[in-house]
Amino acid sequence: MTGGILEQHLVEAVGTAHLLTDPGVVASYETDWTGRFHGRARCVVRPADTAQVARVVHACAVADVPVCVQGGNTGLVGASVPVDGAVLLSTARLTDIGAVDELSAQVTVGAGVTLAAVQERVRPLGLDVGVDFAARDSCTVGGMAATNAGGERVLRYGTTRAQVLGVEAVLADGTVVSRLAGLPKDNTGYDVVSLLVGSEGTLGIITKLRLRLVPLFPGRAVALVAVEDTAGAVALVRTLREMLPSLEAAELFFADGLDLVREKTGLPAPFARRHPAYVLVECAQRADPTDDLLAALGEAPGVLDATVAADVRGRHALWAYRESHTESINAAGVPVKLDVAVPLPALSDCVAALPKTIASACPTARPILFGHVNEGNLHVNVLDALDRAEPVEDAVLRLVASYGGSISAEHGVGRAKRGWLELSRSAAEIEMMRGIKRALDPGGLLNPGVLLD
Ligand SMILES: Cc1cc2nc3c(=O)[nH]c(=O)nc-3n(C[C@H](O)[C@H](O)[C@H](O)COP(=O)(O)OP(=O)(O)OC[C@H]3O[C@@H](n4cnc5c(N)ncnc54)[C@H](O)[C@@H]3O)c2cc1C
Repeated sequence: MTGGILEQHLVEAVGTAHLLTDPGVVASYETDWTGRFHGRARCVVRPADTAQVARVVHACAVADVPVCVQGGNTGLVGASVPVDGAVLLSTARLTDIGAVDELSAQVTVGAGVTLAAVQERVRPLGLDVGVDFAARDSCTVGGMAATNAGGERVLRYGTTRAQVLGVEAVLADGTVVSRLAGLPKDNTGYDVVSLLVGSEGTLGIITKLRLRLVPLFPGRAVALVAVEDTAGAVALVRTLREMLPSLEAAELFFADGLDLVREKTGLPAPFARRHPAYVLVECAQRADPTDDLLAALGEAPGVLDATVAADVRGRHALWAYRESHTESINAAGVPVKLDVAVPLPALSDCVAALPKTIASACPTARPILFGHVNEGNLHVNVLDALDRAEPVEDAVLRLVASYGGSISAEHGVGRAKRGWLELSRSAAEIEMMRGIKRALDPGGLLNPGVLLD
């Protein structure tokens, strides 16, 4: 262990066992999930509760040393790795799950609890978390709140922001703010909870969250639908949205993405023929929604083929085609990752324009697209383009901005997208954000270089 004064204070705060300085151990916190972003931490601290987090942050503030916070390290914009020389604060031990308030359908959880652990705790009570996505076993609710994660159910329940009714957080000087009552109605000034959600660890370290829960519907049906193109997918989802109040998810992917998934996972072909595009939809309600879903698919335009599953195994098998995309892409190489959104009427044009735009920046690039169709949200993964990453990113983000879109729909800005923030936010908005950052973290010690430079 390094013997500096700061390290002594950190040991007093968390105990020797939870100050990690062995380079071999620290290294596992220093590279992000994509393998593209790295940083060298001075040390890693693993506080056990809010009070310990406050002591750590206060000690770092006194020593003028940056603090970078890491949850499950599944973030995709390079924000979860430290800046060189920072203390990396891991939330891995903030894992308390409080008693479930079934009357209010709420629960208070530690920021380091994984999404899967909350699901496991509340599902036996007939409740669920309104947000879900493939990283559920590793991502933490603190990280989800900090990035305002989206995922597969935004169509029905909104993003993480809509699920977070309260937070407890430690500010840059070690002050604790606690707002965990979970009152659905509370108009008493600035919404500090919402401000911390989506702030990517730059305004405070979230230690606890009060989550809104949604009903866990026992009746579920999933359909994989083959369509001609993106326009067909958008038209299909529009019809299903109108006909099926139980519609919960609508995910888009394409033939080349499915080919890659099948190559990496060995999954069988879902249909006798290869189709250009696929939409995976899920409906959930108290009674079995299969008949409603089949009837809606019978009336919907542009359905080339469809397969429906209502049993758990069949549903998971269909979801695997969509949820295996991220890992299959990563297994094929380190991708340039973009996560953009355009207004729904522009989605088809944007998808059509993307291959040419990407090829103009990197002729050998291999783009794989998939996304959450109802929100016009596309995950643009570009393989074989790492040496031309910046020109590819620039070309794609400028294209998206030309449609009035967002350079980051759900992963956040982090370090990866910081240089393009002005494509999505006006100068006045960015100055307002800087003002908020200066007010809450005047020394710039929390996650420096993330979101704002
Ligand atoms: C296979 C896969 C699928 C994914 N699918 C989706 C998807 O569908 N939708 C989506 O939105 N994202 C998705 N992601 C991205 C990622 O899982 C989310 O961004 C997730 O919310 C990050 O949580 P984490 O705990 O891993 O956070 P980290 O990666 O550890 O951190 C992410 C950011 O949050 C900050 N942070 C973490 N914890 C705290 C805290 N307690 N207080 C303050 N700041 C904190 C970090 O400093 C960093 O800025 C996916 C990732 C993978 C690997």
